[in-house]
Parts: sequence; structure tokens; C-alpha cells
Amino acid sequence: MAVYICVMLHSLLKTTLLIALFAFTAFSASAQKVIEPKDTPAEWSKPYQPFRIAGNLYYVGTYDLASYLVVTPKGNILINTGLANSADIIKKNIATLGFKFKDIKILLTTQAHYDHLGAMAAVKKQTGAKMMVDEADAQVMADGGSSDYALGNGVSTYVPIKADRILHDKDSIILGDTKLTMLHHPGHTKGSCSFLLDVKDAVRTYRVLIANMPSIVTEKKFGEVSEYPAIEKDYAYTFDAMKKLSFDIWVSSHASQFNLHTKHKPGDTYNPAAFIDLKGYDTYLAELDVEFKKKRAE
Ligand SMILES: [Zn+2]
Repeated sequence: MAVYICVMLHSLLKTTLLIALFAFTAFSASAQKVIEPKDTPAEWSKPYQPFRIAGNLYYVGTYDLASYLVVTPKGNILINTGLANSADIIKKNIATLGFKFKDIKILLTTQAHYDHLGAMAAVKKQTGAKMMVDEADAQVMADGGSSDYALGNGVSTYVPIKADRILHDKDSIILGDTKLTMLHHPGHTKGSCSFLLDVKDAVRTYRVLIANMPSIVTEKKFGEVSEYPAIEKDYAYTFDAMKKLSFDIWVSSHASQFNLHTKHKPGDTYNPAAFIDLKGYDTYLAELDVEFKKKRAE
């Protein structure tokens, strides 16, 4: 009988502990609730063969969500991480190229949206790399996008990330023999940005622009975006600044924006010249400018 009571008590205690554990887990999950939008295009989650774009710059993203790896003798820089489910794709892509995931020392993003920061918290945790972000996106990144003026409605769309370094317009990010210059290109998010860097191979040096193209996300009129009063002025600044940039190669946050899949096919050999496409940049920027002017006139 005593043994029976003891077993009873034991299992009761176990049940109580389990309930307590469950309640705690549920509580901490709701305290940091993350809901990534589910209706995303299939190309965002589709794997793509990683490849060398030019010099020490590599494409390691998914079919459409661009992630870039800058390889240096002092470790590597990863720019953008796609959706939460992109983490394994990026990890595998880096290994396929013969680099070590753990060698990532610096993390950057072109904009604080869930389709570019989805896996960032996980990558940061696994690598211990330092996250650097444009000052104007630091807050929204720290709340997982819940305060985003267009996509946030109080719920995080990605796991929040705390910045290790705040970047301002024209700041340098230096690792090994490579220097990136951050260019503040606000509008799409308050702290959207692009990066300029020089890369070289045995033949020549290329100036590369990793661009955040200023597409419009809000469905409201500019004057009605109360969370972002400077939105119209910021977009105007960005279009002006982006029209003046000079570079040899450009790539962007989404593969579709710079026609990656017409410039590169799986199995292609190294061909940086395929990414020299100033006309493509000017044409796409002009298309977005038309959208901006339409929105402005509303
Ligand atoms: Zn976006």
C-alpha cells in the first residue's frame, strides 16, 4: 500500500511538474510570439545552387531570397538570411562552396522584413557573429518586425534580433581585406540600406552594389502612414541617391529584381561579366520611380 501511495504521489508530482512546464513553455512562447506569414511565393523557399558572383562575393540564398557571402581571410560576412526555413539552405550552400558556416563573423541586412531576417536570429546564435544594422531599422529588428509601419500589427514576423553595432550612412564595415560602405536608402523600411564594395579576381576589380531597391509596401497614401511621417521625403531622397550611384555589378535583395535567373543557370562557370547590367538597374529603378510618383499623386 505504501509503495502504491508512493507511486501515486510520484506520478501526481510528475503530472504537476509537466503541467507547470507546459504552462511555462506556453507563457514564454506567447511572450515572444512569432508568426511568419504563410502565403509566401514558392520561389522564396526553393533551394538554389550557390555560386561565385565576382571576386570574394558569393550567392548563398534561395531561388529568390538573396543572401550574400563575402569571404575574407579574417572570416566571412553574411548579408540577409531569407525566411526562417532558409537557415538550412544557406548553411548547406555555404558548405557546398567549401566555406565554414562558423566562419561568419558579421551579419548584415538590406531591410528589416521577415523575408530577409527570418533566419537571422538562428544564424546569429549558431555562429556568434555580430549583427550590424542601419540605425533606423534597429528598433523594428529588436521587436521582430512587430512595429513595422506596413507589415507589423503588433506581432513579430521573425525572431527579434538585438544589434551589436548601429550603422549610419556611409559607415564602413571592415573585415580582413574587404571594406563595405553602407548606404542609407530608407522608404521600404525606415532603415533600408545598400552596400558598396570592391571585389577583385585574377583579371580585374569590380565595384559591386548590393542594392535594396525602393519598392513601395504600404497600401495607404503617404500622408496616412502615421507611424512613418517622413516616408515620402525618405523615398524621394533614396531615388535621388540611387540614381547617382556608380558601380560595375549590381545585385539586390530579391533575385527576381536583378534577373539573376537570366544571368545565371545552375552549373554555369564563373562569369562576373553576366552581372554587369547598368541598363537593367536604371530600367528597374525608373519603373519603381513611376510607382512612387503615382503614389505621391494620390
Ligand atoms: Zn521588404
